[in-house]
Amino acid sequence: MSKKLDAFLEENLTELKDQGLYNEIDPVEGPNGAVIKIGGKDLINLSSNNYLGLATDEGLKKVAIEAIEKYGVGAGAVRTINGTLDLHVQLEEKLAEFKGTEAAISFQSGFNCNMAAISAVMDKNDAILSDQLNHASIIDGCRLSKAKIIAFKHSDMEDLRQKAKEATESGQYNKVMVITDGVFSMDGDIAKLPEIVEIAKEFDLITYVDDAHGSGVTGKGKGTVKHFGLEKEVDMQMGTLSKAVGVVGGYVAGKKQLIDWLRVRSRPFLFSTAVTPGDVAATTAAVQKIIDSTELHDKLWDNGDYLKKGLKELGFDIGDSATPITPCIIGDEKLTQQFSKRLFEEGVYAKSIVFPTVPRGTGRVRNMPTAAHTKEMLDEAIEIYAKVGKELNVIK
Ligand SMILES: *Cc1c(COP(=O)(O)O)cnc(C)c1O
Repeated sequence: MSKKLDAFLEENLTELKDQGLYNEIDPVEGPNGAVIKIGGKDLINLSSNNYLGLATDEGLKKVAIEAIEKYGVGAGAVRTINGTLDLHVQLEEKLAEFKGTEAAISFQSGFNCNMAAISAVMDKNDAILSDQLNHASIIDGCRLSKAKIIAFKHSDMEDLRQKAKEATESGQYNKVMVITDGVFSMDGDIAKLPEIVEIAKEFDLITYVDDAHGSGVTGKGKGTVKHFGLEKEVDMQMGTLSKAVGVVGGYVAGKKQLIDWLRVRSRPFLFSTAVTPGDVAATTAAVQKIIDSTELHDKLWDNGDYLKKGLKELGFDIGDSATPITPCIIGDEKLTQQFSKRLFEEGVYAKSIVFPTVPRGTGRVRNMPTAAHTKEMLDEAIEIYAKVGKELNVIK
């Protein structure tokens, strides 16, 4: 065993723990629904990405169980050998319908989808204009591609335009891509896609939108690209199947040729085993549910508005979210962590999010209301917020 490794781990773990940055993980002892059990204690859950409550949906559980009965628990191989079941093809057809594109390809996760798709299209002769607040998986996907990464200020269209102009006029790059989250998960703001598309047209940029937090939420459930009616303008619509869709997986939707290329050139598709039958079947059924009815979507927004109003009336700074994501900005990192801990003790699970995930001094407790919450649960959560807020002098 390596002494160097031991020394490295000891030093770095101690440092993290001393700084209060070592994240302890609390296992959930049951379904990740509107109420969760941790350490034997029931808590109102305001921390999941299970926006529509589909992760625990009874109908979807049945679909998954039936698929397991018919196909087994594993897909048996990577997609390109013989891991592609008819279930995967059905899912991809459903995703193309959902996103209004010619075709779609699915992956094992949203994270690995970004790693796969960006690097399949971009290479060292290219440049990528990336919003400063883009998700870690976008950043890693960009790095893997070896393209030049040019960050632009968050949702700053002047800065994007200037950098797009410089990159294209320099003649240094073969292709240039602009990449953005559709919905930014820390603040709940929506990307300025109409302006981004306009700039992309002017400079012939490839457009890539990661709508992990948008699908199921914006555009009446169909996502942020649909919200702006830009299905014919965005080259690559990426999304996850693990948030509002409630299961697991990722995808890219776009033109047929793009998807054909990703099928032969994205490495996780070629070298990592396909998603399990139960998951794929449940995912297709979940997407169908989102296509068929806006009932859960409407409930999600209603609950989001309700929670925002309640917290705002108490005097909390809830930022400027345009989606159900409701940050409660506390500021100081230590106070934020203490706030979240007190919420936990009182019966609300809302995780603190601090530097480096968000800028220093903007520590927050982030609330993710879902369609599965009842008004009574939200009322109780708001009451607990009032109590803890006063106790810690965050509100008067
Ligand atoms: C969560 C998230 C991902 C990763 O999706 P998983 O399916 O959980 O791997 C990618 N991009 C963004 C913007 C996300 O929020």
